[in-house]
Amino acid sequence: MKLAIDQQRLVSEIETLAEFSDAEPPAVTRIVFGPADLKARAWIKARCKDAGLAIREDAIGNTFARWVGSDPLAPAVGTGSHTDAIPNAGKYDGVVGVLGGLESIRALQRAGFRPRHAIELLIFTSEEPTRFGIGCLGSRLLSGTLSADAARRLKDNGGNSLDEVRQKAGFTAELEQVKLPDAYYKAFVELHIEQGPILERERKPLGVVEKIAAPASLRVIVEGQGGHAGAVLMPDRHDALCAASELILAIEHAARTSGAIDTVATVGICEVFPGAVNSIPARVRLSVDIRDTDQQRRDDIMRVLEQTYHSISANRQVRIHSELLNADAPAQCGPAIVAALGQACATHGFDFLTMTSRAYHDSLFISRVAPAAMLFIPCRLGYSHRPDEYASPEDIARGALVLAETLATLAS
Ligand SMILES: [Zn+2]
Repeated sequence: MKLAIDQQRLVSEIETLAEFSDAEPPAVTRIVFGPADLKARAWIKARCKDAGLAIREDAIGNTFARWVGSDPLAPAVGTGSHTDAIPNAGKYDGVVGVLGGLESIRALQRAGFRPRHAIELLIFTSEEPTRFGIGCLGSRLLSGTLSADAARRLKDNGGNSLDEVRQKAGFTAELEQVKLPDAYYKAFVELHIEQGPILERERKPLGVVEKIAAPASLRVIVEGQGGHAGAVLMPDRHDALCAASELILAIEHAARTSGAIDTVATVGICEVFPGAVNSIPARVRLSVDIRDTDQQRRDDIMRVLEQTYHSISANRQVRIHSELLNADAPAQCGPAIVAALGQACATHGFDFLTMTSRAYHDSLFISRVAPAAMLFIPCRLGYSHRPDEYASPEDIARGALVLAETLATLAS
């Protein structure tokens, strides 16, 4: 099979898609179900129809473009990503996986390949949390990680319910129907820019992802006793900020000593009440983000923190409440897909790095219902989510070529 990517066409399609934007070029802003998003969807669907793909959309607007296989009973092989973009983002995040996926399918068609399993391009709705405050909306519903009821309770920043907004955009079916049936996909592969600097630094053209990290986020409130900064003597104090400081260092220590480089923990917000120069802190609110590629290890850190709460509150006579806001499970990528990606790189003589995705993607959620893996290409200086995000035409085409080869292996 003679596979060739039409690099010029692929890059010009990426440029065209960037024109559907609410921001001035080179910035791209495409908020889910806004006018730019809807125009971009229509344009992509037309390109998929040109390629002879059969299109289906579900109740949340996930779009499936299918190249039918010779065995109608065999589960599909999926590829794809997202096209929504946060305010003032770039052209490549998500888009490389969607338009690169489409070009991979066209390259297979041109090469005369006939898939046994259907090959399906999937464009996920709202990977970015911009509008509804929750990332990976489409893939969470597809995988059953988010229930239809919980989705219906979501509101955008203008107070409009998700149900209202999606129906106005033309997606009117029942949200209950979004979850994929069992064994719908044999495998799912997402092509994506790395969004980090490692490939560029290591001078590797491709990254095969074998693990996807996931965050747990907590809100921690420390309640002590306020008072006058002059009048209350040190032995009588229950300073909430001093207690919170011990806690912050304990969180850092727990992550540093987990035994794995993949464990990271961050206290990103520290709010002090009443926040006056001559007032003892009475209450502190912390936001804690703990990430790992191993759920057990991440949960162990949370257990260590529980013990730390007890010891700090006993020593300092303060109260500590912790609320778990979210805890997505990390994923191990499907070994057969990881192997197929490595083999495809070898077939075309490309060096690659085996790596961990530290940002999370729709593939994290798809991995709950199907074996999934990702292929990374470098992006300049690791920049992403900013207008100067850049991936070279050669890197994009190389990614699409390896994706096509991998899809051929998986769909045969
Ligand atoms: Zn993305």
